[in-house]
Amino acid sequence: MLEKKALYVVATPIGNLNDISLRALDILAKVDVVAAEHVQNSKHLLAMHAITAKLISLHQHNETVVADKILTLLDAGKSVALVTDAGTPGISDPGAILVRRVREQGFSVIPIPGANAAICAMSAAGIVHPHFLFYGFLPNKTGLRKRELTALKSQSCTLIFYEAPHRILECVADMVDIFGPRRQMIIARELTKLFETIHDGTLETVYAWLQADANQQKGEFVLIVSGAEILEKTEIGEQAQHTLQCLLAELPLKQAVKLTTEITGENKNALYQLALALKQPK
Ligand code: SAM
Repeated sequence: MLEKKALYVVATPIGNLNDISLRALDILAKVDVVAAEHVQNSKHLLAMHAITAKLISLHQHNETVVADKILTLLDAGKSVALVTDAGTPGISDPGAILVRRVREQGFSVIPIPGANAAICAMSAAGIVHPHFLFYGFLPNKTGLRKRELTALKSQSCTLIFYEAPHRILECVADMVDIFGPRRQMIIARELTKLFETIHDGTLETVYAWLQADANQQKGEFVLIVSGAEILEKTEIGEQAQHTLQCLLAELPLKQAVKLTTEITGENKNALYQLALALKQPK
């Protein structure tokens, strides 16, 4: 059943056009108007499923103006669907301004879930760590990008980024520079498409792999980077960390901390906290 006076936020495929839900197709066939980021692309998707819909254009440069038009339609009892070029609207895509306005005016906003590149990549990444931070696109300019990467450097959760092909090499190079060469990276390219590639390694080896093959620099990318290691975040000196690690391998925790304190003169409490963290399973 279709709700009148409602905005449906409909996820569409990120490559393979079959990746659309039955519910999404049903909604798109029944709403009065479909607001699409690229009308032509959405026409193609709808035609594949034999759906004819009235399409209007909504993109990042006209979202505020078109939101007013959509509010008028909802007020007149119509139902509207929002789709973007690929994946879930509002996720590194237009939609949030419209959704906020519609909710402010007291109309229903109904999400129709489906494809999202970040979640698709994560599902194939095999990351055991339970927490992740979806960052989306970093700035285009190296200076700003490095500044944002520096701000993220001490995050212990997994980091997920989107990147475009013309910036992929410089972006990964900046990650090597700021995060260091040793963190794990999974690079997911052209997900659900013909040249889908999921490759992993350290930041350094992934950069070398990308650099060596121009074909791997083409298409759309999700970059998954492991979070900061406990050792990167502590203010305890490298020598003391090393001593503690060696002693922890041989002695009970309390004894290892006591000896490390005596040998290195570092703060006992800080060493104790680090020892606890090092003993935790990852
Ligand atoms: N709304 C979309 C979503 O839910 O994932 C994201 C749209 S954003 C404008 C486009 C970016 O998403 C691309 O530059 C790329 O980083 C990522 N992306 C989209 N489709 C992808 C795919 N098939 N494979 C890898 N990354 C993809």
